Amino acid sequence: MPARKKTAAAEETAEQKLEAPAEKKKRSAAKKPAEVGTDAAPKAPARKRTPAKKKTTPAPAASAAQTIASVSAEPAAPAAPELPQPRRSVAFIGSECYPFVKTGGLGDVMYALPRALAKLNCDVKVLLPRYRCIAQQWQEKMIYRGSFMMDLCADGRSFYVGIMEYVWDGVVYDFIDNEDFFSYGKPYTNLVDDIPRFCYFGKAALAALNYLDWIPDVIHCHDWQAALVPVYLRTLFAATPLSNAKTVLTIHNLRFQGIYNIPTIQYWSNLPDYVFNKDALTQNWVDANMLKGGLTYCDRITTVSGTYAEEIQTPFFGEDLDAHLRYHAGKLRGIVNGIDIQLWDSRTDKLLAAPYGAEEAVAQKRANKLALQAQLGLEENADKMVLGLISRLTDQKGLDLVNAILPALVDGNTQIVVLGTGDARYEDSFRGFENAYKGTVCSYIAYDEALAHRIYAGADALLVPSLFEPCGLTQLIATRYGTVPVVRETGGLKDTVQPFNQYTNEGNGFTFDRYDAGLLLDAINRAKTLYFTERSRWDAMVRRDMEKDVSWENSARHYRSLYLELKP
Ligand code: ADP
Repeated sequence: MPARKKTAAAEETAEQKLEAPAEKKKRSAAKKPAEVGTDAAPKAPARKRTPAKKKTTPAPAASAAQTIASVSAEPAAPAAPELPQPRRSVAFIGSECYPFVKTGGLGDVMYALPRALAKLNCDVKVLLPRYRCIAQQWQEKMIYRGSFMMDLCADGRSFYVGIMEYVWDGVVYDFIDNEDFFSYGKPYTNLVDDIPRFCYFGKAALAALNYLDWIPDVIHCHDWQAALVPVYLRTLFAATPLSNAKTVLTIHNLRFQGIYNIPTIQYWSNLPDYVFNKDALTQNWVDANMLKGGLTYCDRITTVSGTYAEEIQTPFFGEDLDAHLRYHAGKLRGIVNGIDIQLWDSRTDKLLAAPYGAEEAVAQKRANKLALQAQLGLEENADKMVLGLISRLTDQKGLDLVNAILPALVDGNTQIVVLGTGDARYEDSFRGFENAYKGTVCSYIAYDEALAHRIYAGADALLVPSLFEPCGLTQLIATRYGTVPVVRETGGLKDTVQPFNQYTNEGNGFTFDRYDAGLLLDAINRAKTLYFTERSRWDAMVRRDMEKDVSWENSARHYRSLYLELKP
């Protein structure tokens, strides 16, 4: 790791320079978060190392060259057996991570990818906000690692940064502690509060890395909440040891960008004027866009599927950033997500009435279906086909298509189970369907992890008709549980679901292309026809689905190749 091999003098100089942006005023361990904003006398920070911090031996020239060769060979993952790869250190910075806090797919990725990378010879540290809503069982496990005051705003206001650490399965989790910003009951509130919160978080995460003296090879940022990190790194932190790190910014969903007026973002970030130009943070002359700035300043952009990487360069999917993304297309690439196959394992899933593997899936899924029907008040009959839908209830998810055709699905042989929360209009319409079709339709308007597991196991097919879907995890989980996905061909849905071919008996789901309710109905009807008239072929697809590799391993190898490409 070149960054680690400084002379003592060089390190000293770099550290002195660091004082200016990060204002590392070491506070005694006894000081409490309540002292935020007080004028504590600055002290040099203690040079501490996290358990994951290991001096790595330099990579032999031969293996480095080989790594570059394997990178250029993407997208095919390197075939086994593999030669040892050089160790890489990576800091993940993002706003949520299962099981501490999760509102969607980002939380799953922040959990599973670091663990998969740790198994591939990477040192991984995950930096997260320490939200008050993180459950007590996790709060109790965190250990205080230090704290300091950090300059943040344009008027010189400084804020407390505490670091609470938890090490779990080879991954170090460092929680950035500040009660002013993270004491709400949920991670996101509204932009008025979220913009200052994530201006603070990005800078505090970098300052914490400097404070801990943990200089990673790569800083991997996720979504707009962490998108100022590459901008801070190349400006306010340019003279610190951290600036040797390369940055990767992953777009999990381009719809959310962190856009607000320029004076507000400039005040809270204290970034120099020159980053507020039209090629970086400024958008439409009046607003500042945090994601856009990150895309400009990062070394690589990734998004969560190859198809979405193409789509976001077009006006329809580009959310007003398509031209910017086309300009930066040279550093953009798509790497499809996986799922954590230990967490999502129908053989060992304790939440299921009848756990099962691929061999006994057909019989055991019937048992799970009966348990699900009983729990949800549906008619208990394993011969009915159960269609599941597990989703945030928003426009993105294609729910207007489902609403348009739902009455046509109710044919006496089909049941529909919806699990989700979100926009009132969808919550209300699904509640209305439940009332209209008692015993046949269940709309469970809530966020319920346990019920999600039971639906994945008990349903026969899962609907994912999204308008756009960067990757989508529900279809991957469904596949793992032998529940046949019915999806629209967009983003990661297109990359992960191969349409059933009745002539060759290949494919693992049913798909439709245009965003059209009639085409969704047609795809569901094709699934129903196979289910009711050719059950052995359906059952073979269930087994095929369960045997499909949807793990993180392959994707994690692509990320590691990217890191090696950045720091050969
Ligand atoms: P997105 O990130 O756009 O919400 P994804 O498909 O990438 O969609 O990820 C959704 C994740 O959230 C999956 O793990 C899914 O099981 C879970 N999920 C979504 N809604 C609910 C809900 N109401 N209850 C439980 N889990 C849910």
